[in-house]
Amino acid sequence: MTFETALHDPKLCRVLLARLTRALDGRSMRFMEVCGTHTVSIFQSGLRSLLPASITHLSGPGCPVCVTHDVDVAAFLELAGREKIVFATFGDLLRVPGPGGQTLKHAKAAGAHVEIVYSPLEVLTLAVSNPDNVIVFPGIGFETTAPAVAATLLTARQKKIKNFCVFSLHKLVPPALRTLLDEEGDNAANIEAFLLPGHVSTILGIAPYAFLADKHRIPGVVGGFEPADILLALCRMAEQLRDNAPAVVNAYPRAVNDAGNPKARALMEEVFITTDALWRGIGRIEQSGLAVRPDYADMDAAVRLGVRLVETPQQQPGCCCGDVLKGRIIPTTCPLFGEKCTPAVPVGPCMVSTEGSCAAYYKYLEH
Ligand code: SF4
Repeated sequence: MTFETALHDPKLCRVLLARLTRALDGRSMRFMEVCGTHTVSIFQSGLRSLLPASITHLSGPGCPVCVTHDVDVAAFLELAGREKIVFATFGDLLRVPGPGGQTLKHAKAAGAHVEIVYSPLEVLTLAVSNPDNVIVFPGIGFETTAPAVAATLLTARQKKIKNFCVFSLHKLVPPALRTLLDEEGDNAANIEAFLLPGHVSTILGIAPYAFLADKHRIPGVVGGFEPADILLALCRMAEQLRDNAPAVVNAYPRAVNDAGNPKARALMEEVFITTDALWRGIGRIEQSGLAVRPDYADMDAAVRLGVRLVETPQQQPGCCCGDVLKGRIIPTTCPLFGEKCTPAVPVGPCMVSTEGSCAAYYKYLEH
C-alpha cells in the first residue's frame, strides 16, 4: 500500500469520522474549503455523503477560472483579436464567458490566434518559433502559479526573448478571505472554520492566515487532499471550536512547511507588486492582486500593449456565481443549475473549470 493509498483506507477514515463526531458532540459546524481541488476531492472520495449531517460544507473563491472577472475576459478578447498577437493560455480559460457570453473559444473560431499551452515555460518556445508575433500569456491563478510565471519572465529576460509578455491578473488568497469575513448582515456567509488551501500554503506557509484566529476567532486548518487528510483537518477544526481555542494550524506537514517557500516568494517579489484586483462575483478587493513591476514593463502586456480594463455589467443574467463564491449559497440553489447551466453549456465560470464548485456539484451529486 502506498502512502497515498493508505490515506484512502476505510478503517482509518472511520476512525477519523468517529473522532470528528465526538469533537462535534452534537453541535453544527459550517466550514468553507477555499481551494477548488478540495471541492473536487470531497466529492470524488464520497466524503460529502459520509460527513455528519450537522456539517455544512461551503465552497470558497479558490478556483482561479471562477474568479476571473468579465472585465478580464473582455480584455483577453480584445487582445486576442489584435494583429500580430498570439494569445497563449491554459485551456480552461477558453470557455469562460465574458460580456455577452463571448469566450476565447468563440474568438479562436472566428480567426483569433489563440494557442493552448500546458506550462508558462512552453510559451517561451512559442515565442522563439513565432518571431514576428508578440506572445501574450495571461497570468491567472493564485500564489501557487505566480512564482512559475515570475520564473518564466526572468528566463525570458535572461535569454533575451523580446516578443513575450505577461498580462498579470494573479490573485492573492488571504485578502479574499478577509473580505468574506468582513461581509455583514444578509451578505454574511457565517463561516465558522476554514479548510485552508494546501497548494497555496506551500508558498505562503501559515502566518498570512493568522488574522482568522486573532481577529475573527475562526479556526483555519491547512489540509491535504486525500480523504484522511481532509477528515483530519475537519477534526482539528471541530476540536478548536469545541475547546473555544481557534488557531491557524498546519495539518498537511508532509507538503507544507509552516514558513512556506521563501525562494518562491522571493521570485514573486522580484517580479510582481501587489495591487487592487477585481474578483468575479466579489468585486474589487484592495491589494489582492499582482501586477508586473515597472522594472519589467517591457514584458508587462498592460503597459507594452496598452491593455485597458473596461468595467462592464457583471455576470450572466441569473447566474449566482458571486453568492456561490462567497459561501452564501450552494450551487444547487441557483435556478439555472443543471437546467440552463451545465458543464456542456456553462452560463457562469463556476461551471466551466473542473475545479469549479458548480461543475463538481453537477458531476458528483444526484440532480
Ligand atoms: S449553476 Fe451556472 S449559472 Fe448558476 S451559479 Fe453556477 S455557474 Fe452560475
